[in-house]
Formats: sequence, structure tokens, C-alpha cells
Amino acid sequence: MKNIQTTVIGSYPVTIDTMEFIKTYFLQKKTDQKWKRYIKTAVQKMLDAGIDIITDGQTRDPFIQLFARKLKGCRIRNRVEIIDKIEYTKPITIEDQKYVKTLLPKNKKLKGVITGPYTLTRAATDLHYMDEKQLAFDFAYALKQEAENLQKHVDIISIDEPFFSEQVPEYGKELISIITKNLRRPTTLHVCGDIRKNISQILEMPVDILSHEFKGIPELLNEFKQYSFQQKICLGSVRSDNVTVENVEEIILHIKKAIDILGNKIIHISPDCGQRFLPPQIAYQKLKNLVEAGRIINER
Ligand SMILES: [Zn+2]
Repeated sequence: MKNIQTTVIGSYPVTIDTMEFIKTYFLQKKTDQKWKRYIKTAVQKMLDAGIDIITDGQTRDPFIQLFARKLKGCRIRNRVEIIDKIEYTKPITIEDQKYVKTLLPKNKKLKGVITGPYTLTRAATDLHYMDEKQLAFDFAYALKQEAENLQKHVDIISIDEPFFSEQVPEYGKELISIITKNLRRPTTLHVCGDIRKNISQILEMPVDILSHEFKGIPELLNEFKQYSFQQKICLGSVRSDNVTVENVEEIILHIKKAIDILGNKIIHISPDCGQRFLPPQIAYQKLKNLVEAGRIINER
């Protein structure tokens, strides 16, 4: 009897009416009830599919803007621009997590997701610091405050750092450790993309679980096998960039292969990445099949 749990990475596709979106954007406070409706839809879909550890679905904004919108020093135009020193002046995702908590059955868990400091740095146009490292550290100190707030409301905290697949800067470990150092909750680092060339640096990261795109890049399994490491693994098991729904048997084979190679390191299974860009029905069916595959694997 195994106890592998199912989870998601962050975003869930919720179709937002464009006119409603514009109104909501300009009248953010007055339309908060509408946001709650989007969050509720995403949460209920994840719960209906049977996912053990859900998120709020990140329906408010894409994952960069979601954080940039509420951090002092950022301005959102076509891209995020850095126009002043980055400071944490108000909670970013806390209200949404509190709301999700009210929808969550007792046997389910909530994952709080933070977009990582390096990814925010690389995704933004810097008009103030002119110093990538200093900007990344100020993002990390701001996100540390959000994470410490967040841990009062969620069961696990995930840091989303897709830009680590391109490059892990020499100060990458320090950035992540600023955020995770004082956390009491388990932590995950999610890096999608091909991390084969950066794998030894990623294995140094001070987190409990590493989450990667193992379905899209199955070669990663043998790469991980070359190293001994402390962290557990969240195994990407269905693709997020492809509308073909993997059937249950295919997902079971993938998980079994991963267990053959990495044994009890595998503690979570998930999609390869957030599901924002998938049609809602496809995203839902992928989660449902993932849950069914996990159930069968756990019973064996
Ligand atoms: Zn991802």
C-alpha cells in the first residue's frame, strides 16, 4: 500500500468573460464577489476530479502579474516594469487562500504558490536597479514576507521558478533559502522545462520536494538517478502543453517507471505545469485520469 498524493502546480483554466474582466480590473474592490466565483469554480473542479492537494487556481492573473500587481516598485504595462525599490506593502494571495479554506473539505490540503524571485526578475523590464542580482534579492525579501504570512493559511508552499530551467544564477540557492529558511510548512520548488543542464544546482535547493516536467521530458528520470539527494519528488505525469488526454493506463505506466527508477522518492503526482492554457474540459479530464491512476498505484 503506497501513499502517493495527487496535486496541481498552480493555475487552472477558468474562462473569464472579457468585458467582465475589464470591469473587474478597473473596479477591483466592487467586483470581488466575481473573483470569488472564478476561484470557487476552479477549486470545485479540482475537488470534483479528486485532487488531494489543491491550489486556488490562480484565476486572478497570469503568474507574473499576480505578484507584480501587488508589490511596490512594479508597474504593469505590456510587460511588468520595475520603476522603484521592490517592497512588500500588503498581502498578495492571502485573501484568496482564506476564501479557498472555506471551501475545502477536511481531508483535502491547500498548496500556496509563490512565483519565484528569479523568475519575476527575468520576466520584468528593469528601469530602476540596473542590477539583476539586487533586484532578485529584493524580490526574495518581499516574497519571504508573503510566504511567512501564507503558511498560516496553507498546508504546503510551492515556489514556481520556471526560469531556473534556462539558468540558475550562482546566487540561486541563496534566493530560495531567503524564502524557505523560517518556514514551518513543507516546501516545493517547481521548475518546468528542460533542467538537465542545471540539475546539480537544482538539487542543492533548500526545499522538501522538487517538482518537474517528467511527462514531457521523461529523460529526466535517469538524470535524477545519477545523483543522491535529500528532496522528495513531485512527478509531472500528464502534459500541460498538449490537449491529448493521457489515459489511465498510460499514466500508471509512467508512474510505475518512475517508481522503478526513483523508488519512494515519488510522493506527489501532478500535471507537468499549470493548466491555464488548456481547454477547461481537457484540464479536468487530465486531473481525473491522474487521480484514478494514483488510486490504482496506491492500492497495488
Ligand atoms: Zn511550470
